[in-house]
Amino acid sequence: WSDIEPFVSKEVINGVTMKTYSDRPKTLSETLDYSVERFPEKIALVHGDEQVTYRELKKQVNHAAYQLRKTYGVQKGDRVALLLMNGIPFVVCVYAAMQIGAIAVPLNTKLKTRELEFMLQNSGAKILISNLEWWEHIASIKDTIPAEKIFITSEHVPQGTIPYHFLVEEITNEVIQEDVCEGDGAFIMYTSGTTGRPKGALISHRNIIHTCLNYTYCYRLTSDDSTVIAVPVFHITGLAAQLTTFIYLGGKIVLMPMFQPKQFLELLEGEKITHVIASPTVYVMTLMEPDYMNYDVSSIRVGAFGGAPMPGETLKALKKWIPSIELHNTYGLTETTSPAIIMPDEHQLRKISSVGVVSPVTEAKIVDPVTREELGSNEIGELLFKGPMVIEKYWNNSEATEKTIQEGWLSTGDLAMIDEEGFVTIMDRLKDMINRGGEKIFSVEVEDVLYSNPKILEAAIVGIDDPTYGEVVKACVVLKPEQTATEEDVKKWVADRLAKYKVPAYVEFLDTLPRNPNGKVIKTELRYIPEQANKQK
Ligand code: AMP
Repeated sequence: WSDIEPFVSKEVINGVTMKTYSDRPKTLSETLDYSVERFPEKIALVHGDEQVTYRELKKQVNHAAYQLRKTYGVQKGDRVALLLMNGIPFVVCVYAAMQIGAIAVPLNTKLKTRELEFMLQNSGAKILISNLEWWEHIASIKDTIPAEKIFITSEHVPQGTIPYHFLVEEITNEVIQEDVCEGDGAFIMYTSGTTGRPKGALISHRNIIHTCLNYTYCYRLTSDDSTVIAVPVFHITGLAAQLTTFIYLGGKIVLMPMFQPKQFLELLEGEKITHVIASPTVYVMTLMEPDYMNYDVSSIRVGAFGGAPMPGETLKALKKWIPSIELHNTYGLTETTSPAIIMPDEHQLRKISSVGVVSPVTEAKIVDPVTREELGSNEIGELLFKGPMVIEKYWNNSEATEKTIQEGWLSTGDLAMIDEEGFVTIMDRLKDMINRGGEKIFSVEVEDVLYSNPKILEAAIVGIDDPTYGEVVKACVVLKPEQTATEEDVKKWVADRLAKYKVPAYVEFLDTLPRNPNGKVIKTELRYIPEQANKQK
C-alpha cells in the first residue's frame, strides 16, 4: 500500500498507539453533509422504481431526526433498533439516528422471535422500526422488550404501532444536530457468540469512518463509483463497506431487498455498476444463471468478495467473463468493521489461497493459541488485530470484551499464517463456527437448542463442505433410550427456534459421539455426509 502511506500517521487512542488516517471526518453525519453539499442533485439511492437524490435523502434524515428527538424523546446514546430489509427507510433511519447521537442497532431479519427478543433486551432499544413482514415476531414479544415506540413501514399498521411515514413527514425546517465525538457509539452489531448468546459489537464513529476511508483508498474509489448492495445491509459488509462508504464518497447505491441472480445481473447492466462486494455464494449463484454471459457488465471495475473462502474456479470464471475486473479477496470480522485484510488485485490470481495483506491502518500478529507468544512468519497460530477499525468493546458484556480484546488487540478465533511478503493465509478456525455462504453459525447455539429436546441425549454440530454455500450444517444426534425421532423431526425442532439458515441440512443418528480422553467431542470425525443422504442423492 505504498501509495496510501502518505495518508497514514500514528496516534494514541485510549492509551493505545495505532496507525490512523489523519485527515478524516469525525462522524457519519459529517460524511452525509459533505456529499449533500457537493452533489445535491445526484442520485444517492435506487430501490426498484424509486430514486432519491442526496438533497432529498438529507431532507428525510432531517425530518426523522427531528421527530425522533422532539416527538419521541430519543436522546444521545439511546438505541434505535432497525428490523428492516435493504431499502430506503433503513438508510434514512441510520443517518437520522447518527444526527441525534443515537446508536443504531441493525437486526438480522432472518432471526426467530427468541433471538430477536434477546437482542432487543440486551441493547435496551427505546425505539424499534420494522417492516410489516416481521410483525408476527414483534407482536409476541412487544410486552417483554424495552421498546417504547414501534414504527412500521406500511400505510396500515397494527394497533399500538406508528406508521413510519410519520417520521419523514415535513413538519418543520428545524435541523437537529447533536454534538457527537468520534469515540461515540454509532452501531451495535450482533454477531453469533461462542457462549451460545450473540454479542453486540459496539462500533464507534471512528471505527466506521476508518472503514470508509480504508475502503476508498484500497480500491481507489471516487464519487463516480456506484455499488449494488446484494448482501443484507444489517451485516457489516453491506453496512460499512457499501452503504456508509458510498455515502461518504457521494456515489450511487442500488439496494436489493433480496438477492436474486437474474435481478442482480439486470441491475449490474442497467445501472452500470462499477463496484461490487459480496459473499462468494452471490458470485457462485450468479455464474449458475444459464445466460449470465449475455449481460453486458463491462462497467464493473472492482469485484470484491469475502466473509468466506472463494472457490478458485469461480475466480477464474469471473476473470474470463469480465477480463478488466479487479478481483479482491477481503477478510474481516464484524469486530474489525469489515475488511482488515485486502488482496491487492495484481496478486489475486498469484496468491490464490491467501486472503491478502493487512490494511494500511491495521496491525496484525500471529500468536501461539496456548502460550500467547508471538510467532514468526510462516508459523501457524491465532490471528490478532489492532487498529482504529477494531472495536473497543462489546455492548453490555464485559466478560466477552475481556476475553476477546486485550490492550487493543482483538483475537479473531481464526488460525492463520503470514508469509515473508506479508500475505495472510487463513488455515482453520479455533472457534467452533460454521460459515454458510458468509452467514456464521456457532455450533453451540444450535447444540443448545438440540439439547433442549427431551428426546435427545447428546448432540454435536459440524460443517460439511458444500459447492454453493461453502459449508452447511450437519447435526449428529444420539437419542435417549426408547426414544424415536426422524430427520424431519430434528430439523423442525431447530426451525421452530432458530433462523432458517441455522437449520441442519443433514441429520445423522448415532449410538454415541466420538470423544477424546478428556470427553471432548472429536468433531473432525463427524465431518462427512451421512450415508443415507448420499443414497438419497
Ligand atoms: P463476521 O463477523 O460475520 O463478519 O464473520 C467473521 C469471520 O468470517 C472470520 O472470523 C472468518 O472466520 C470468516 N471470514 C471472513 N472473511 C473471510 C475470507 N475472506 N475468507 C475466509 N473466511 C473469512
